[in-house]
Amino acid sequence: MRIVIKVGTSTLAYPTGLLNIRRVEDLCRVMSDLKNEGNEVVLISSGAIGMGVGKLGLGKRPSDIPTKQAAAAVGQCELMYTYDKLFGEYNHTVAQILLTGEDVENEKRCTNFHNTMFRLLELGALPIINENDTVATDEIVIGDNDTLGAIVAKNIDADLLVLLSDIDGLYTADPRKHADAKLIPVVEALTPDILSLAEGKGSDLGTGGMKTKLRAAQIATEAGMDMIIANGQDPMILYKIIDGEPFGTRFIGTKKG
Ligand code: GLU
Repeated sequence: MRIVIKVGTSTLAYPTGLLNIRRVEDLCRVMSDLKNEGNEVVLISSGAIGMGVGKLGLGKRPSDIPTKQAAAAVGQCELMYTYDKLFGEYNHTVAQILLTGEDVENEKRCTNFHNTMFRLLELGALPIINENDTVATDEIVIGDNDTLGAIVAKNIDADLLVLLSDIDGLYTADPRKHADAKLIPVVEALTPDILSLAEGKGSDLGTGGMKTKLRAAQIATEAGMDMIIANGQDPMILYKIIDGEPFGTRFIGTKKG
């Protein structure tokens, strides 16, 4: 299987912006194992800004753009250093790809991206993708890694997109506000009722929320693949998800004609 796994800042780092070492170690071990099993794995990793906040001791996510971009520049190094080290322990080679909205909209750049991705997968490398936050300004920004994950998954014709977050899946209402909210295990179609469930923003250090996840679901399912939202707290669930066991919320891809 060709699997794209997106990991949010809230899964990778503590609210301090410092790395959740145990979590990231578990994630890299499971993803390495999935590769050893014969799957192709692509990682969409957030956390550059969050980790930059931690490393620069900023205390909280900056609101001005230059500081955000500076934090991303510092944090992206920290992220890749960590992935290179941890995947290296299992003999896997990582590759960094940083994209902006312009890169995926411009046909030539998008073809270059596509070709590089396929070559990397043929070479057995593990591409790790993030938005190029240092140069992405309002006009060219994709803006969130849920959407970026779906765009990448579509571009490389993936079999499955998994969004790992700090929430168990899509609920009938925002579970942080409504105690009686129920998890929806399967979404067959993105009806207006389903789309209206996208209440609320994500964590303080990250960008996404349910809205961006449903936008990603739209792109992924229209491209014909299933997408899953699951809690990244325990990376071992990736095994079950890939085996098709019910976990989180599965959005069913519309069959390719
Ligand atoms: N590119 C951002 C970062 O690495 C994250 C975007 C997102 O969380 O969706 O911090």
